[in-house]
Amino acid sequence: MQTRATVAVLGGGQLGRMLGLAAVPLGVACRFLDPSPDAPAAAVGDLVVGALDDEAALDEVARGADVVTYEWEGVPAPSARHLAAGGLLVRPGDRPLEVSQDRLVEKDAFRALGIDTPQYHAVSSREELDEAIQAVGLPAVLKTRRGGYDGKGQFVLRELADANAAWSELGGLALVLEAFVPFDRELSVIAVRSHDGVVACWPVVENEHRDGILHVTRAPAGLSELEARARDIAVALLDELDHVGVLAIELFDVNGSLLANEFAPRVHNSGHWTIEGAVTSQFENHLRAVLGLPLGATDARGVAAMVNCVGTMPDVTAVLAVPDAHLHDYGKAPRPGRKLGHITVVADSPADLDIRLATLLPLVDR
Ligand code: AMP
Repeated sequence: MQTRATVAVLGGGQLGRMLGLAAVPLGVACRFLDPSPDAPAAAVGDLVVGALDDEAALDEVARGADVVTYEWEGVPAPSARHLAAGGLLVRPGDRPLEVSQDRLVEKDAFRALGIDTPQYHAVSSREELDEAIQAVGLPAVLKTRRGGYDGKGQFVLRELADANAAWSELGGLALVLEAFVPFDRELSVIAVRSHDGVVACWPVVENEHRDGILHVTRAPAGLSELEARARDIAVALLDELDHVGVLAIELFDVNGSLLANEFAPRVHNSGHWTIEGAVTSQFENHLRAVLGLPLGATDARGVAAMVNCVGTMPDVTAVLAVPDAHLHDYGKAPRPGRKLGHITVVADSPADLDIRLATLLPLVDR
């Protein structure tokens, strides 16, 4: 009899929780490392409470595991290297962490692969900010190279006079100035790569943000002419990183051209719809990939939309009264701006989906 496979997951947030849920039918156990004893993933597997750079805690969560993975792109790359040096299989490895944690390195990596990005320029001094404005033009977005997420650590410059304010807010940190892109749509492509280099992509989706946080994802985006280009971008990046597992790339659609904004070397909020809306979810395929199992099909089943519940949870009865609506409550304490859950709604046609969404959206208080 085969013993039950164990996956050690660095990070125990909602992404870990959904990985743990997908692991159950596969007969796989997940064990999580998270600094918080209230980590959402504790509901679906053993939790080691500790910092993600604490070698003793890393050793404890990984002990006896078949593979180590991560559900947060902020995991320090040395933590992944520490575990790999101890003989553990770490999938994905340290490189996707290192590249995605620095916006400048990330953009250089896209460019080196022939993937277009917004114009950008590194900024490490006030003089360099002026040079960058000259090079990139205005409007532009000044971003911290490290540590920014959901629009945090960003300053939009509309005119030259904004440079001082931007510098007083972010100056002193390693920065990058990007051209502000007048995009038509924000899209993302989620891809999975197996241990032997097979890449599968879910259909490209359209993402609408509010206050820098994802609000609604619509799947598929219905832009068949962009599917092939998005797939090429994903294959190039995953192959270059020798990535094993799921990876998400956020893209701007500008007049039918795709510009890469950033990538996350993990399962992604814009892929939550795949739980009910695709043949195989991003969570199941991530586990399949890191465990060296065959990947499942990534085709959509009909059309789907995902709505984030941020700050407060909606009325459960009202949500579940909508046909084919599914509620995911992450079990987190409510706090303004915090992702607490999401709703996925599926339908056979875009018209039916719109009707269901029109009922759901007012229930989500944002
Ligand atoms: P990011 O943290 O880079 O994902 O940025 C958060 C959000 O800010 C994105 O989803 C976009 O809506 C917006 N944004 C970021 N960079 C740019 C840009 N260069 N041009 C226009 N909008 C941007």
